[in-house]
Amino acid sequence: MIIGSHVSFGEEQLLGSIKEAISYNANALMFYTGAPQNTIRKELKNDLLDEAKTLALSSNIDFNNIVCHAPYIINLANKSQADKWDFSINFLINELNRCKFLGVNKIVVHPGSSVGITQEEGLDNIVEALRIILSKTSDVDILIETMAGKGNECGRNIDQVKYIIDNVNNDRLNVCVDTCHINDAGYDVAKFDEYLDEFDKKIGIDKIKCIHLNDSKNEMNSHKDRHENIGFGTIGFNSLYNVLINKRLENIPKILETPYITVTEKIKKPPYKEEISMLKSGNFNSDVFKDIYNI
Ligand code: FE
Ligand code: FE
Ligand code: ZN
Repeated sequence: MIIGSHVSFGEEQLLGSIKEAISYNANALMFYTGAPQNTIRKELKNDLLDEAKTLALSSNIDFNNIVCHAPYIINLANKSQADKWDFSINFLINELNRCKFLGVNKIVVHPGSSVGITQEEGLDNIVEALRIILSKTSDVDILIETMAGKGNECGRNIDQVKYIIDNVNNDRLNVCVDTCHINDAGYDVAKFDEYLDEFDKKIGIDKIKCIHLNDSKNEMNSHKDRHENIGFGTIGFNSLYNVLINKRLENIPKILETPYITVTEKIKKPPYKEEISMLKSGNFNSDVFKDIYNI
């Protein structure tokens, strides 16, 4: 089982991220190199990275199971404001270089939002942007994420993802499947093998390099994108557990991006240690957070 969660990337950079993952008993992790909402990035430190590599090795964390996520504000779909599109491209080139420096070989990117243009135009802009980014970088894969189809989001179904993958046509372009997003996009996670069959037929299952394992606050086909804790949403524990143990995806990291638990108005706690423990055991406990935090 390769399972982990979103972790922070603070003063200790990747070393801190790995320490946090270990505290959740995870063997995979995903981080943003700065705040997910902005593009301010600090300089990466060599000594911290050496320590991070040593710690990962002694803790059985394979760097193939460490994933970076690009900030949300990057939008490759919209070219109407050319300076913003150029900024997104240049930011991602730098971000891929930061990943390469860190020894991280995967970065998840949201395809983008086609505001004020058609989805087809948006998809073509994404293809063009990805071609530029991939041509100016090396070693790091871009994983485009399957989206919920909120607003004008591109990548809302397998066909749109296929369009991007086929037209970019690069081994370094792969896919991250998010269970909350596909549920909200209209796919039934309870029938995940049917989703994989369609994905395999149209794109090829070997293109899936990461799974975001999230429950959803909303019904299938709601196009909302609001994540819920594992077992507490509309997808439910059993379906998510079946994604985790699916033999066809055995060797790829499963990453939790579920919301923090609100203990009091000011105190929020990460749910990941408990969620990972439940997923490893295969047993759901609906009182797990109540019992720990007295809520
Ligand atoms: Fe994402
Ligand atoms: Fe996600
Ligand atoms: Zn999401």
